[in-house]
Amino acid sequence: MALNSPWRAEFPGIRALEADGQTYLDSAATAQKPQAVLDALLAYLAGGVANVHRAQHLPGERATRAFEATRSQAAQWLNALSSDEIIFTRGSTESLNLLAYGLEHLLPPGAQIVVSAAEHHANLLPWQQLAKRRGLELVILPLDQAGSIDLNEAARLIGPATCLLAITQLSNVLGRWQPVDALLALAKTQGALTVIDGAQGAVHARPDVQALGCDFYVCSAHKLYGPDGVGLLYGRSEALAKLQHWQFGGEMVLDADYQDARFRAAPLGFEAGTPAVSAVIGLGAALDWLSRLDQTAAAHEAALHAALLAGLQARPGVQVLGEPQLALACFHVEGVHNADLAHLLSEQGIAVRTGHHCAMPLIKRLGLAGATRVSLGLYNDGADLQRFFAALDNALELLR
Ligand code: PMP
Repeated sequence: MALNSPWRAEFPGIRALEADGQTYLDSAATAQKPQAVLDALLAYLAGGVANVHRAQHLPGERATRAFEATRSQAAQWLNALSSDEIIFTRGSTESLNLLAYGLEHLLPPGAQIVVSAAEHHANLLPWQQLAKRRGLELVILPLDQAGSIDLNEAARLIGPATCLLAITQLSNVLGRWQPVDALLALAKTQGALTVIDGAQGAVHARPDVQALGCDFYVCSAHKLYGPDGVGLLYGRSEALAKLQHWQFGGEMVLDADYQDARFRAAPLGFEAGTPAVSAVIGLGAALDWLSRLDQTAAAHEAALHAALLAGLQARPGVQVLGEPQLALACFHVEGVHNADLAHLLSEQGIAVRTGHHCAMPLIKRLGLAGATRVSLGLYNDGADLQRFFAALDNALELLR
């Protein structure tokens, strides 16, 4: 299992963890950062910081230019029509909460919001709570055995009452590309708004929001090898124009009096207060880094994933959840409690995630108390998998 990573040397975090005896296999939770991102952060932070948009001085102008350059890069990276379609948020979770508040006024009582059974809490709970606030119906699209949203059921459940469809592009538990095109087509026939949770999907294939044809798309920088604390909300300009403002404060205002105020349009109208300037600049470096990747990246990910699946499937009693296609695999072991397994893996320096993976309803529907997830980044290599499998074998020998 050679599977060398040509990118590994660019990640000081991986070297540091290795020196600590740690094998990092939790990139679906958050990814390590390449040197290029660390350099960009340090250059900005050590080069004289300033707040953006409000200052007339040189440092303010420089910070604003760098900040806005990331917005243009993000628009290009997502293939948006204009950088005005890109709102900086704290991450996918905040983007989805923004939408659940910003679209609330458009959803009449009795309307249906449609999500899938595979959603992360971030793309379930904001809609669930909105449904409760407004007396709406939350419709859950079921999955097939492989872990894909069942299109026959979707065609039955998406109907004239559907006002909004919010679905994940790639599940953080099941590791499958969802049939987003077909689902969007069903939703659009009903005139529904469409939201895609790209928190995992954006990491493994560059999104093209125009080709997708969605109204909104969200993702998080920290999973894209960028800094934490910043995420993207793409909105098609016509869809953004319908959003109600949700957070109020500095910079998002056009004109304010003591008793009333008027607000800016997107994007600045949805970026109240001082944004995460350094993280946004770091995200720019991450997008640069991602843009330089070629086909070898997808090939490396695919080869690692195939080795991961083969290793899991070769071990008796290990049951992989669904049929993951890339990036990760979740599994449970018959007769073994996942918390015990987690403890023994962690004692051996294996950093994998165990539990409900912020998708509690899905884990419950699968009849489990939890599962163990191995997830891969471009810096992982065959030796990481070998260490993981050796540790898994040791742990299972002890537990069974
Ligand atoms: N959606 C999915 C599919 C995710 O995997 C995650 C992160 N685990 C989120 C949404 C939320 O992302 P964040 O925590 O960066 O807001």
